[in-house]
This record gives sequence, structure tokens and C-alpha cells, in this order.
Amino acid sequence: MAHSKYVYLNGEIVPWADAKVHVFSPVTKYAAGVFEGIRGYWNEQAQQLYVFRLPEHAQRLCYSQKAMRFSKTFASDDICAQVLALLRANECRENVHVRAMVYLGGEGEMDALGPTDLAITAVARPSPAWVRDGCRAQVSSWLRVSDRAMPMRIKSNANYQNGRLASVQARMDGYDTAIFLNDRGKLSEGPGMCLFMIRNGVPITPTLSSDILESITRETVLTLLAEQLGCEPLERDMDRSEIPAADEMFFCGTGWEITPIINVDGSVVGDGKPGPITMALQQAYMDVVHGRDNAYANWRTPLYGAA
Ligand code: PMP
Repeated sequence: MAHSKYVYLNGEIVPWADAKVHVFSPVTKYAAGVFEGIRGYWNEQAQQLYVFRLPEHAQRLCYSQKAMRFSKTFASDDICAQVLALLRANECRENVHVRAMVYLGGEGEMDALGPTDLAITAVARPSPAWVRDGCRAQVSSWLRVSDRAMPMRIKSNANYQNGRLASVQARMDGYDTAIFLNDRGKLSEGPGMCLFMIRNGVPITPTLSSDILESITRETVLTLLAEQLGCEPLERDMDRSEIPAADEMFFCGTGWEITPIINVDGSVVGDGKPGPITMALQQAYMDVVHGRDNAYANWRTPLYGAA
């Protein structure tokens, strides 16, 4: 499955090629949409697909709809049910990335409040290559958009133009990806993932008031670091000048999973290899999302029958 056979669109399961939107809609003209990226992990032994933290993603999509002041909103139970229905219709039996998007797909101007549409896609998406070997990041000259301008804590399509500029710049300058500073000059996040640093055994991540997405993986990681690895992670303001003091750094997110950062701006992080805490965390994360570790069962929604 490169992409799935079917797409969920406004109450119907339709063939992939038929899931269309009009060029004159506010979502194409003004990026008037909000979305979620959700992963499902196939467990061969259990013959089960586990959707990771589905209710939390659906709840964040509800928050995003409200924050963007859409008039007709889709409820989280409905979103969860349709995600599962689509995965079942596609008979999905491999790792999958689900995108659920609520958007203004009708005709309308910039200040339209509706009508809203709900579309859900499922695409096979392996782990990024950097998960194993680590990535090289550039501290971007683009600043993260401030909460005073747009709500970065939600997943709004428009936010990703800020991320796109930083990503493109990083690629053109020979890096894999970017790290944003915010308008207070503090470390913020990557274009599609959150940031952690380990200093003297202590994991540190920017606070939720650093113009970052309220990430579900960030919260998962904070829990796993404390409960599985015996660390005491800190959420605090972080400065760029702390990077040379870092023993390890990593990104986390639904798409990026746990990705080591081995180099920033051409300087090695730690000894330039994925660090031991990062890799232990990655192992714990992979075991939990695949359901190889039975703990945290409430984070996994099994797709087929009983778990
Ligand atoms: N920040 C941004 C900007 C993102 O797009 C993502 C990916 N959704 C994340 C952080 C990580 O969020 P989550 O763990 O909820 O996937």
C-alpha cells in the first residue's frame, strides 16, 4: 500500500482518485484547514493493528477546529469511529500513517466559518531513515510564528508554511531539517516535531509556551522517560547556547518517532552518534506503539476484534 484504496470523505468511503476538493475553496485559497497525523502499527505476532493514542489525536482535532472558529465541528467519537472504519475498509495490515483533516471545502472567502468537510486518508509510511542513524539540523534563520500571531499549539494547515520555509532552507543548505527559535529567542521545535536535549543525564524540553504544538508524542516521551528510564525530565525555556553542552539531542513526533540529532549547524552533538538515553527511549517507544510491551494498553486502539 503506497496509499490506500479508499478515502473517507464526508460520510462516505470513496476510491482514492475521487477524493477531490474545489480550487476555489477556502482551504486551497487560504489553507483553511486543521488536521491530525496519526500512526497505526502492525504487530505481526498478534495479527493486530494498533492505532496509537487515537482519542488524544481526535480531541486535539476538536480543539483545533474550535481555535480556528469553524462553525460545524466534528466530534471526537465520530472522528475515531471513521478512522477505524477507513482502516478496516482498507484491510490495513502494515504500519500506516493516517491523516484526518477538517477543512473549508465549499465556496467561501477568507473569513468563512463553514461549511466544513472531514476527510481521512491512510498511507503506508515507514520510519524516517534518520531514526536509526540520526539527522543533522540547522538552527533556522526563520523564527517560529509567535502565539501572538497564530496558534502554533494546534495543528492548522497554515502553520506548516512556516515549517516548510525552514525545512526547504535547511535542505538547500545541506542539512536534513531545521530547529526553530521563537520570537523570544528560545529554542522552540522542528518543522513537524518536538525537541529534547539531554544534559548530564537530565532530559530537557521547551515548555508548552514556546510556540510549539501541544504534541502527543512529547507527552508520551515525558512519561516514558520518567516511568521506563528512571529520568526526571524538565520542561523549561531552552537557549541555543546550550546546544554545545548537550550530551544527546533528539526530535520526537508521530511522524519522526524518536529521531536522534547528531549534528547541529555543523557541530557534533555529544560524540556525534545517537546517544544511549535516546536509543533506550526509542526502543521503549517502539515496543509500546507496536504493543510488544503490554504496558500503556490505553494508548493503543486495536483495529481487529479483541486485543
Ligand atoms: N510539532 C509540530 C509542528 C508537528 O507538526 C508535530 C507533528 N504532529 C509535532 C510537533 C509532534 O506532535 P505529535 O507528537 O502530536 O505528532
